[in-house]
Amino acid sequence: MAKRILSLAASLGLTCAVLAAGAFDDGSSAAHAMLTRLCDDFGGRLTGSAANRGALTRLADELRALGLQPEVVPFKMPGWERGADRVALVAPFDRRLRVAALAYTQPHRAFEAAVVDMGGGKPEEYPVDCKGRIGLLGASTVLQLREIARTAAERGMRGLLFINREGGGQLLARSSSFTGEPLPFPAYSITQEEGLWLQRLLRRGESVRVRMETKSRCREIETANLVLRLPGRSPERVIVGAHFDSWDLGQGALDNGLGTAQLFALAHALRGRDLARTVELHWFNGEEQGLWGSRHAAAVLGDAPVVAMINLDMVGVSIAVNALGDASLVPALERWNAAREKPLSLGVQNINWFGSDHTPYQLAGVRAITFNAPIPRESVRYYHDLADTIDKLPAQIVTDSTAVIGDFVLAICADTGLRAERRTPDATEKLFTAFGLDRRMRAIGYWPFN
Ligand SMILES: [Zn+2]
Repeated sequence: MAKRILSLAASLGLTCAVLAAGAFDDGSSAAHAMLTRLCDDFGGRLTGSAANRGALTRLADELRALGLQPEVVPFKMPGWERGADRVALVAPFDRRLRVAALAYTQPHRAFEAAVVDMGGGKPEEYPVDCKGRIGLLGASTVLQLREIARTAAERGMRGLLFINREGGGQLLARSSSFTGEPLPFPAYSITQEEGLWLQRLLRRGESVRVRMETKSRCREIETANLVLRLPGRSPERVIVGAHFDSWDLGQGALDNGLGTAQLFALAHALRGRDLARTVELHWFNGEEQGLWGSRHAAAVLGDAPVVAMINLDMVGVSIAVNALGDASLVPALERWNAAREKPLSLGVQNINWFGSDHTPYQLAGVRAITFNAPIPRESVRYYHDLADTIDKLPAQIVTDSTAVIGDFVLAICADTGLRAERRTPDATEKLFTAFGLDRRMRAIGYWPFN
């Protein structure tokens, strides 16, 4: 394999040393061990929490122990912290319900109200008399929470219970918008089983009443990204980013401890190497609440020469590499895939999608790349909840995924057919409208175009 890549590299006029197969294995085992310590010693890394700060300090220390010099880049963002969330059924009988407040829910005193079925939350689905009530929102809603909460509050509703789309007693911690503004009323994720139970009672005409209370609250926080720069022969940068933060209910092992570990494995394997271009590894904070860390990083980028930003958010073992809508990247991705001993089964894709740390870079005109790389269902189903723990992440996933990512990063560093460049704002706008992403981005308050 190495021989084949080397001969291709020679034919492309590349001088960068291509690493042999297995070159990332040691880094990957070290990274899995490091992530196990982060998960077990700190738990979930909710941005702004003591656990997040402690874990980021530990990660920086572990990088320093490898002889590296990561930089802590502080920034401010609208934060949110979870206090005790208590929601209980009080009629037709008493039962404590399993819930988690959605981010940007504000604290409120306990109140009791009748529950009404609001279907998928479309305006025509609201019951006539919903003033003073708590809405029960179906999992299949196609609307964004920010717009549902706004309409529901305008109609005088007092709260929201959002049924989880995943069964098995799970909750889905999640954000309510990308603006950081407090929700107009309390909203909670409720398990699918209990949510459907309430829905069946309501559809039979039973009176269902709930009492809710939370100490969860919004507050301005200062947090930080961690950046490690591995200088290459050219100042042109290849940025590889992964969000470091997670939700608080579990350990954030898959979302996105996996990406955190992959970056660590890259740092381990690439330190001291002769790199054709400069590689920057970014551990972002604040992704879960609204991409705050990558927004900050993209904002301070200025006009630095960036070849591409590679985003690692829950990247398992790759079946395709994705140019995220920018066709100018496709030939380079094809070259890399064709040179692989085992090309990825789905090859190169070019589909933009919204909602992770590549987005702020794309909006800054930077070309972004990610992988289509599933994680086994038995691990991935637990994301954002209690069971996203390190036991769901076999070390082999870190090793196999990093082998592909590492090989790719080196190829992009060395590919002389690529240049650092930015899209025009017009081309960037089209990158989103062409994939129909503008509606959702407007609905959550994150659309910089007119
Ligand atoms: Zn994530």
